[in-house]
Amino acid sequence: MREYTLEEIAGVLREEKSFILTGHENPDGDCTGSTLGLAHILRSLGKQATVIIDDKLPRFLSFLPGAVEIRRADEPVEADVLLVLDTVPTRIGRVLEQVKVKKAINIDHHETNDGSHMDHHIESQAAATAEVIYKLVKTLGVPFTKEAAMCLYTGLATDTGYFRYANTTPFTMRAGADLIEAGAVPYIVSEAVDERPYQTVVDLSAALDRMECFAGGRACGIFLDAPTVAKMETTEGFIDSIRIIEGVDIAVVLKMKEEKLCRVSMRSKRANVSALATQFGGGGHEHAAGCTLHMGYEDAKKTIMEAITRALEAQA
Ligand code: 5GP
Ligand code: MN
Repeated sequence: MREYTLEEIAGVLREEKSFILTGHENPDGDCTGSTLGLAHILRSLGKQATVIIDDKLPRFLSFLPGAVEIRRADEPVEADVLLVLDTVPTRIGRVLEQVKVKKAINIDHHETNDGSHMDHHIESQAAATAEVIYKLVKTLGVPFTKEAAMCLYTGLATDTGYFRYANTTPFTMRAGADLIEAGAVPYIVSEAVDERPYQTVVDLSAALDRMECFAGGRACGIFLDAPTVAKMETTEGFIDSIRIIEGVDIAVVLKMKEEKLCRVSMRSKRANVSALATQFGGGGHEHAAGCTLHMGYEDAKKTIMEAITRALEAQA
């Protein structure tokens, strides 16, 4: 599939009139912030922009300007252009079935996205898709509205752990500073994004009770079976509580979502977890990746623990 430069995408945004923007299932701050952020910019140019994300939006992202307008892919919808942000186009639920467009472009920063599914612009060095969208808006040469700045700042902040992770560059911080100048308010973003219902902190405590260290203390996991997951509204952020353990390189959270379907999230300090996730058809980044295991709870747990242990042993 063909590669687009940012200049070429800017040309498409100028020429066409109606846009559908979408992001991945299990939406996070970058996917939601990037789609909403670009939608605000397009509207400021007099264009029609519809954001469709075919999954439940987590409560802590509902503060994003425009979040209430996000639609699920429940019905057919037409536009000139589909923009698929922050993911390979295989993780967007029913969007491709429902959307009729002249052109589709995938904009992403995942190194595991090989661009084979759709015309694309992929910058694997970018800290966040929001950073690529920031560059796109600069290329367009239009001002950031306050709403767009808030959304794009949230994307940058969440994918970089508030400008702390290995993907943070001077450019990332300059982009963040520009967005603050344009109206993003960092403390509003961090208060909203980090807030959890009381019950979720109770759930975190239960999850930590079940954490297991393995691979000689170089890995730690939270493994949640189906009945446990069913009781929890979200497990977002749980992995951050175990990745900090001294000596732990790889942190993993495994959740059984349904019969023969377990979701795996991984974070690392040194190891390449995207290579690990790719072994199971998933992907992501060197230090943050995920995959789906089509097996029962016990098999999935054993499989991922063995793969992580092997990866750490190979590295030693
Ligand atoms: P998280 O653990 O926060 O769900 O995901 C970490 C990173 O890996 C994110 O950048 C996310 O987009 C990516 N990722 C998670 N699960 C998958 C998956 O199943 N496939 C692919 N290609 N990427 C994933
Ligand atoms: Mn991202």
